[in-house]
Amino acid sequence: MKSRNVIICGGAGFIGSHMVDILLENQFTVTVIDKLTYAGNLSNIENHINDKSVKFYQIDIQNTDELNTIFRTEQPDIILNFAAETHVDNSIHTPAEFVQSNILGTFNLLEVTRHYDDEIHGQPTSRFIQISTDEVFGDLNFDDPAFTEETPYKPSSPYSATKAGADHLVRAWARTYKMKTIVTHCSNNFGQRQHAEKLIPTIVRKALSGENIPIYGSGTNIRDWLYVRDHCSGIFQAMNSEYFGHSFCFGGGCELSNLEIAGKVCAILDTLRPKKDHQSYREQISLVEDRPGHDLRYGVNFEKSQKLLGFRPTDDFDGKLKITIQSMIS
Ligand code: NAD
Repeated sequence: MKSRNVIICGGAGFIGSHMVDILLENQFTVTVIDKLTYAGNLSNIENHINDKSVKFYQIDIQNTDELNTIFRTEQPDIILNFAAETHVDNSIHTPAEFVQSNILGTFNLLEVTRHYDDEIHGQPTSRFIQISTDEVFGDLNFDDPAFTEETPYKPSSPYSATKAGADHLVRAWARTYKMKTIVTHCSNNFGQRQHAEKLIPTIVRKALSGENIPIYGSGTNIRDWLYVRDHCSGIFQAMNSEYFGHSFCFGGGCELSNLEIAGKVCAILDTLRPKKDHQSYREQISLVEDRPGHDLRYGVNFEKSQKLLGFRPTDDFDGKLKITIQSMIS
């Protein structure tokens, strides 16, 4: 495949910054577009900007004029859209920002790509990869089979509803305008550089500050955990494939209840930073009032990605979790 020139939107965020690393390791030319919301962090990619291996534009993906100029300057072959408001709790309190960035932002990016292809290539040429979530499928009961690419959409939160809205636009632009799109659905990512508001960083922060570690409801809700670099490797395989119009599920094969993941994080902290009184950090775990609309269980069947893309999550979950926690406390 000759396409090597990538525009990555949301590349200063948690997952996007790992994608930047993988693209550079594979000698791709990388341009990052990021609004730098409270969740974006330039230091995630600062070394690449400083050594000039990455070009950076601080732009909102809703800004048509700026995007048009950047596309014509950078001439991308591939557009990766990670840019989104991502925190479910925030979406419950301020849903408008989620509609704007996640739906209208994706709409704008699709239109800019479509017009750029028309003008520069005379036909749909650019690859457009939309980074979605497994949360668009709603939730599962404990004994349901895991989500697949065929699972109907049934989002529960304002966050997942806006991600679902964006996916529908991408699918429609593929069908109507023949754009070369792929949608990916991943489970909960973990790894270095995740924003402090997310579950694992919150557990670590609260544990070390001696506060209660808050876990919603009964703590039995289940999440599937995917190491961030495994996720990005899957996206890399997808963007280099010819499976346009397809969607792909990426999971970690690691379903854990929230109490179980909190217990694992505490056990690692017990070894890395033992408490003076020799108590376990587990003693600080505290069940709190449940989140409204809290999804019960996510589980992802990634057979299609395994078969068609060669995707494979790590079999060393505990080791990757330890590296993640070490990076947060060093
Ligand atoms: P993040 O919040 O760490 O990063 C999002 C980035 O997008 C930030 O750098 C932010 O500044 C940028 N951004 C937000 N709105 C923007 C806008 N309007 N214009 C330009 N930039 C904007 O999120 P993340 O965890 O890295 O997630 C990346 C993508 O993966 C998101 O689309 C998210 O829905 C999806 N996803 C994440 C997870 C997860 O576990 N983290 C799971 C499933 C799907």
